[in-house]
Amino acid sequence: MVTAYDPTNNRIEARGPIRPSSESLTHGMVYDQSNDIRVILHVHSPDIWLAAARLSLPVTAASVAYGTPAMTLEVERLFRETDVREQGIFSMGGHEDGIVAFGKTADEAGSCLTRALSLCLDKN
Ligand SMILES: [Zn+2]
Repeated sequence: MVTAYDPTNNRIEARGPIRPSSESLTHGMVYDQSNDIRVILHVHSPDIWLAAARLSLPVTAASVAYGTPAMTLEVERLFRETDVREQGIFSMGGHEDGIVAFGKTADEAGSCLTRALSLCLDKN
């Protein structure tokens, strides 16, 4: 369980038998954007990732790798400069197939993913 994160110093605090994901920093930054964000789903979907521009999904910069403090700044930028809050989903430009969806509940976050996926499949 991740108990704290510190993007400035690239540090994660966690306890339990499993090492935290390298994407914990990214998740921490998404949770910090709103108290209404209670669930984050990170998936690898080539369908959604390749269609991100066509679907007008917010996308983090391709030059920024996942699991880095720079990615947390990119996430902050998306919340400042795009409608990611309303869409509930964004693509990680520098992490092939990387998609992040979020919401108040697992159902809400999952719906963002399935909506994007169905739009991909409709237009293919
Ligand atoms: Zn990933």
